[in-house]
Amino acid sequence: MASIALSILIPSPAADAAHDAAHEVHRRFRHGVYSVPCETCHVPAGELCLARRAVHAARRARFRETHQATALVPLLVGRAR
Ligand SMILES: [Zn+2]
Repeated sequence: MASIALSILIPSPAADAAHDAAHEVHRRFRHGVYSVPCETCHVPAGELCLARRAVHAARRARFRETHQATALVPLLVGRAR
């Protein structure tokens, strides 16, 4: 817990590298928000947002909608039977 607070207060090259690496892995495998394109900076799925070290709010919202839609389908199908 203390190390997390310190990394926020005192930016370090190691923390920056870890943050970049985490985003890079998600981008490469199209995980999370990188599974959808960004409507704000118009990058396709699998590409980082043009705003460095940030994912646009619209992209996060779209990912949430897509994720909820796919999760809801089995529930709705099950209820219709
Ligand atoms: Zn973007």
